[in-house]
Amino acid sequence: MSIYEKYEAVIGLEVHIQLLTKSKMYANDINEYGALPNTNVSVISLGHPGTLPRVNKRAIEFAVKLGLAVNANIRKENQFARKNYFYADLPKGYQITQDKTPICNGGAITIKLKNGGTKKVNLTRIHMEEDAGKSMHDQDAADSLIDLNRAGVPLLEIVSEPDIKTSDEAYAYLTEVRKLVRYLDICDGNMEEGSMRCDANVSVMLKGSDAFGKKVEVKNMNSIRNVQRAIEFEIKRQIEDIEEGEEITTATRSFNAVTGETVWMRDKESANDYRYFPEPDLQPVIVTEEYIAKIKALLPELPNELFDRFVKELNLTDYDASNLTDTKSIALYFSELVTKTKNYKAAANWMMGSVKSYLNENALTIERFPLKAERIAELIAIIDEGKISNTVASLQVFPEMVKHPEKTPMQIATDLNVIQESNSDALQELVNQAIGGNPAKVAEYKAGKVNLVGMFMGEVMKLSGGKADPKLASKLVKETLDKA
Ligand code: ADP
Ligand code: MG
Repeated sequence: MSIYEKYEAVIGLEVHIQLLTKSKMYANDINEYGALPNTNVSVISLGHPGTLPRVNKRAIEFAVKLGLAVNANIRKENQFARKNYFYADLPKGYQITQDKTPICNGGAITIKLKNGGTKKVNLTRIHMEEDAGKSMHDQDAADSLIDLNRAGVPLLEIVSEPDIKTSDEAYAYLTEVRKLVRYLDICDGNMEEGSMRCDANVSVMLKGSDAFGKKVEVKNMNSIRNVQRAIEFEIKRQIEDIEEGEEITTATRSFNAVTGETVWMRDKESANDYRYFPEPDLQPVIVTEEYIAKIKALLPELPNELFDRFVKELNLTDYDASNLTDTKSIALYFSELVTKTKNYKAAANWMMGSVKSYLNENALTIERFPLKAERIAELIAIIDEGKISNTVASLQVFPEMVKHPEKTPMQIATDLNVIQESNSDALQELVNQAIGGNPAKVAEYKAGKVNLVGMFMGEVMKLSGGKADPKLASKLVKETLDKA
């Protein structure tokens, strides 16, 4: 047994999401990414003495939305707290956050495991707070630069229980969180731009032990993949240290994406270093049952619900359902498409095939896709009616459709002269094949067993891949038998 197999990891993730509100958490400065440095600031976000914060209503709404989506308990009386620390990108000298009274407690996020199963990762809490400004230490040779546009941007911090066991599970968890916040339209989930950030708490212990080891918190990962890499590195490092007789000490480390390693940053602060106390400038925010009910009524269909619906009602495979629910806008388009065709499998194939390829090749999102769902449904219909084959549809008709969204697929197929000769040759050939291959049955038919027509029909349908026009096929079968 290798040393690594003797241990198991314990992982808890803290995810910060920046909310897509128009203004900041406690001030009406504009909340936008990428503005010129220090243009979206005000006396409040600059921490001028004598100014007073006000709570952003929309941020409360977003917190409640997320809480409901993960089945958390929503707190009625929300107190804010000051978390005091000194840093140049924090002009007030404290962050207004929630300490003892997070707006959400409990709840869970269900992740998909590689073996096809699912697992619930329980949540400890979700609380509201504000972002700090952004310090840049590598832009100027002599000075550190500070952009305070980000100071005061609304955040939700989602804290998981230490339920995650592997870096793969952490990857799946973050993928699920990102999908969820995007579905809810509360955060763009963009880790590269920092609008979703993750701190990974990692410890290891001997397998089967119930005493958690000391945890290390890893920061500065700018993609889900890098969180996974950081956790992998950290697990390995901790095991090797322990095996060499060293003791793991609680610390904060930073991930270096170039080397794939984590490096020591500082010993971990403890809560009392921050001198939390109730924020005296803000009254508690009261969330009523009525308000919660109102938000609940407006919740969109969530990715998991859509997934279940696609599997149960439309009979899609898990793979197709998960592919089609990855992105909300794709899921919505597909949902509309299946109200216009009953051939759900074909609808899924068109979405995951030609439609997605077209979007990728043209760097478009489905919002900019030229075709209405109805057009795809019409295309599926003429394939199912045997007017055109699947191959012709994807190689010839579809490429013309996206250029001429005003034309129906039937018009395009006619213009291209690709309509299958349904009344003739192709089908007659299949009929001949079916009849020619069964001389014994033909003789039985001739001897009076007329219901054998059904059997020949079945054969023809099979040969045509289900695409033969049944009326015409039956006519041809009878004619051909009578002539035989
Ligand atoms: P802190 O006070 O240091 O921030 P918390 O108790 O708030 O610690 O936990 C922060 C995160 O660390 C949570 O996601 C939690 O699940 C996780 N965590 C707690 N203990 C451990 C541990 N021993 N190993 C790994 N993760 C842990
Ligand atoms: Mg913490």
